Amino acid sequence: MLKSFYRAAVFPAAIRLGLDKVLRRLSERKRIILMYHGVVPKPDLKLSVNHLSVNDFEQHMAYLNRSFKIRKLCDLFEDYRNDVVPKDYEVAITFDDGYANNYHYAFPVLKQLKMPATIFMVTKALDNPNHILWYDFIDGVKPQIDYKSLTAVNFGFPPSKEGVFKKIRDAESLKAFMKLISVIEKNRIIQWITEQGIQPDTTGHKEFFELLSAEQIKEMTDSGLIEIGSHTHNHPNLSEISVSEAEQEISYSKALIERITGDAVESIAFPDGSYNEEIKNLCINAGYRNLLAVDYKLKSDIYKKNILSRFCISNTTTNESNFLRLGVRFLFEP
Ligand SMILES: [Zn+2]
Repeated sequence: MLKSFYRAAVFPAAIRLGLDKVLRRLSERKRIILMYHGVVPKPDLKLSVNHLSVNDFEQHMAYLNRSFKIRKLCDLFEDYRNDVVPKDYEVAITFDDGYANNYHYAFPVLKQLKMPATIFMVTKALDNPNHILWYDFIDGVKPQIDYKSLTAVNFGFPPSKEGVFKKIRDAESLKAFMKLISVIEKNRIIQWITEQGIQPDTTGHKEFFELLSAEQIKEMTDSGLIEIGSHTHNHPNLSEISVSEAEQEISYSKALIERITGDAVESIAFPDGSYNEEIKNLCINAGYRNLLAVDYKLKSDIYKKNILSRFCISNTTTNESNFLRLGVRFLFEP
């Protein structure tokens, strides 16, 4: 009740009075990288919390365009590396996961306002156009799963893991478990569920699931406004899988994107914000220069010039609330 009052009346009034600007001015910080995911005409939180409405997205871009200098991610990083102190408050816009809806609904808005952005894509869809991100798959089938039938033996795990499976009783706990296992193990779970005749029903809401195609990528990068970065090939939590698997995820996705765009892929965003020192080194060795975290996992990363954290735009709150959160982030982010 109080929350809705704040969202409906207090936050919009605070923005009108310029509280967002006051928050920024109190801060030493001058640059922030924003993280979006999908943009669809009509979000449905029951299907996915990953998408913002087109209408809200347009308002976000108009707000950012009048409030900040919009930078290309690579330029913002280059200045950061060279200790350039920005004259204006500046933001870079990024999208994670590589939904085709970025092309259909976000790109036209960005083009109209001439705003650059970077899309971090999961490249598996370039090998298989019908690929659905693993957590979208689970969200898409969650009411149909009989959680009691999920057992270690069914998925080829040793019987000693049975205790872990006993704790999986809903989609959230299943997803939490799947963040800790390898891509092969995850695919075994998805395959088993599929074999039970259970599939996400994408009819009528393809835009919630569909990922970018090579043609869409090419058109966007040719515009000079959009940079494509890697979000790995299968969206695993990189610090939870083997080094050789992580290495493969990091370099294969880079090569696939480069084959399409012809440009070197220099930026990578860690799926689920998961990384460690070893993962960072693997990325640098693979040729990445710009590493994108969500929050810093290592305190020393605050001072490292090849990694930056990002501010996650919420798809479940109002625009004014997001704008004020952004102001607060200027104040409190390390
Ligand atoms: Zn992601």
